Amino acid sequence: MTSRRTFIRILPLAGALALGGEAALAADATKVDPKDPQAAALGFVADATEADKAKYPKYAAGQSCGGCQLYQGKPGDAAGPCAIFGGKQVSSKSWCSAYTKKA
Ligand code: SF4
Repeated sequence: MTSRRTFIRILPLAGALALGGEAALAADATKVDPKDPQAAALGFVADATEADKAKYPKYAAGQSCGGCQLYQGKPGDAAGPCAIFGGKQVSSKSWCSAYTKKA
């Protein structure tokens, strides 16, 4: 009987965790995954300082999504949509080889 009560008490918690996990996954689905084939082909990195400087010599210190023409976030936003990734979110500190300095 005790185990049944324990189970009944745990059940809502497990459900909440499952829903929370789904919400987290849904949120991640809107972010550009560096392992996504398109992102990988463009050398996308979540942290611009980790850009492959040997493979992408055009990378220069200070470049990041926040200063890119294709970044659709507002100045100061931690993240925003990127035009070449179908509006998926990128961190303002990310970078890819399609970087184009904001005019
Ligand atoms: Fe970031 Fe610009 Fe590349 Fe989009 S195109 S991921 S905003 S550097």
